[in-house]
Amino acid sequence: MGSNGKTVLIVEDEKTIVDILEFNLKLAGYTVIAAFDGITGLEMALNAKPDLVLLDIMLPRLDGFKVCRAIREKDALLPVLLLTAREEEEDKVLGLEIGADDYITKPFSIKELLARVKANIRRTMYDAQTAEDSADTLTAGKLTLNQNRMEVRRAGETLELSQREYDILCYLWKSGKVTSREELMEKVWGYDYYGDLRVVDVAVRRLREKLEENPAEPRYILTRRGAGYYFDNEQLTIDN
Ligand code: CA
Repeated sequence: MGSNGKTVLIVEDEKTIVDILEFNLKLAGYTVIAAFDGITGLEMALNAKPDLVLLDIMLPRLDGFKVCRAIREKDALLPVLLLTAREEEEDKVLGLEIGADDYITKPFSIKELLARVKANIRRTMYDAQTAEDSADTLTAGKLTLNQNRMEVRRAGETLELSQREYDILCYLWKSGKVTSREELMEKVWGYDYYGDLRVVDVAVRRLREKLEENPAEPRYILTRRGAGYYFDNEQLTIDN
């Protein structure tokens, strides 16, 4: 069975329920991890980087409400689905008030559970992306740089930069100053380099080939002769 790359954490003390959930989630392509008490569940929610938590309410050591509240204090986006008993109507309301995203009533249908899991993971990805789009995005001329997604676009088109090319661009863009090749080597390559600085020139040339509309006449990454490289943030010359 194939993996969809998403991990679901089950926090539930009833072994038979964990087994049923685990079997069906794995069948649907999820990686499954499980905790059988609230303390362990909370630790795994915060440290094991699940994409969603299925959380029982009546749990040993720490109940599901407290686990949910503690998760929310640390992580605003991690989807939490409460597993509630049908008769505990007030639990559902309380759960949503303290930050659970949804609940599912025991005994649940597997089909409904999988639909809820899928919908809540997708919604969170969308929320995270929207939040990223509004923050940490730099713009200059036709270029945009999204630092959270480490993505550079020119006129809306994503550029395929290597990690190093991205790092060079990011460093020059954010420092806003003429930067020597020695400094670039130290900051981007991460060590003091006393050897061949042409490594930097080659990397900058390759970056320009991807970044610039005309690499022979760069407009974004400019050279200050004898001093180094700098990013032209003004873009006053761009007119086409
Ligand atoms: Ca229980």
